[in-house]
Amino acid sequence: MVWVALASSRISRWLAQAGIRLLPLGLKTGVVAEIGDGPALIALRADIDALPIDEATDRPWRSQQPGIMHACGHDVHTTVMLGVALQLKQREATLPGQVRILFQPAEETFNGARQLIDAGALEGVQAIFGLHNAPDLPLGTLRTRPGAFYANVDRFVIRVKGKGAHAARPQEGIDSIMIASHIVTALQTLPSRVFSSLETVVLSVTRFTAGNTWNVLPETVELEGTVRTHNSEIRAQIPQRISALIEGIAAGTDQHPRLGGCGAGTGAGNGVSGRACSHTADGRRRFRFLSATGTCGAFVSIGSASKYGLHHAGFDPDEALIEPAVNYFTRLAPRALQIVAAQ
Ligand SMILES: [Zn+2]
Ligand SMILES: [Zn+2]
Repeated sequence: MVWVALASSRISRWLAQAGIRLLPLGLKTGVVAEIGDGPALIALRADIDALPIDEATDRPWRSQQPGIMHACGHDVHTTVMLGVALQLKQREATLPGQVRILFQPAEETFNGARQLIDAGALEGVQAIFGLHNAPDLPLGTLRTRPGAFYANVDRFVIRVKGKGAHAARPQEGIDSIMIASHIVTALQTLPSRVFSSLETVVLSVTRFTAGNTWNVLPETVELEGTVRTHNSEIRAQIPQRISALIEGIAAGTDQHPRLGGCGAGTGAGNGVSGRACSHTADGRRRFRFLSATGTCGAFVSIGSASKYGLHHAGFDPDEALIEPAVNYFTRLAPRALQIVAAQ
């Protein structure tokens, strides 16, 4: 939060130095700027937050903060949009309307889009355009498409409560690690066996937290992960599918752990209680959330040609994308203003 706040104040300072007006929306982090005048209004959106990763590149612009890295390329997005803001400012007198530039916080934790909407950043906006780099795309490539571009993002937490025991006497305990391991494996049947292969369902368990020594069976395990879907009907089924699956696993063991999720507990017999819960969070996934407010828009992927993918400590987007991306959005903005003005 501190570093995002620092990023916000730097972005604000650079914009203000260029004579660009900032909207006083009372955001804790995130910045909204505006250029131009007139009734037509479009928005361009970048994201500014980072991830808790130690950067493993040796670039001169690598993160200066241990444990904090722009491993999703949001520093590149911010740079592009700052460049666009400066370019548009130079053409301000000829702009056929207003361009609002959103520097969105908390893209990774889902709630930044909501903060911007609640603060009024989208009020009056007739069209919105976002960008994200794509490491799998070659440099100089742009990709977009009609319809939903990014999936819905849901997060789940599953807590397995067994009974701790000496590692040499597992029969006296309830082995939460073994049960949680079964759950991790079984969760993969949701995308591969429960839902049609024609539907996009991606489920990843990303955290398995248990134990702190070698000779004790720990009492509890906590699993965390995410489910990505495009189909909202399938999305709505996910929480009870996960619950049914983990309750089945618990019922199928001789031991009876308590499976506690972060949602309300439900007694389900067999000594099992609790259910997995799904924190719903529309996405950039989060951008989908911005454009789902009824504002038309497009999302553009920009090739960043990184050997390592997003969220990897070695992620290294090619900075040569910056100039063509700035030029692209600088040309897009007046064209989009002309179109919305004519509607
Ligand atoms: Zn990311
Ligand atoms: Zn990102």
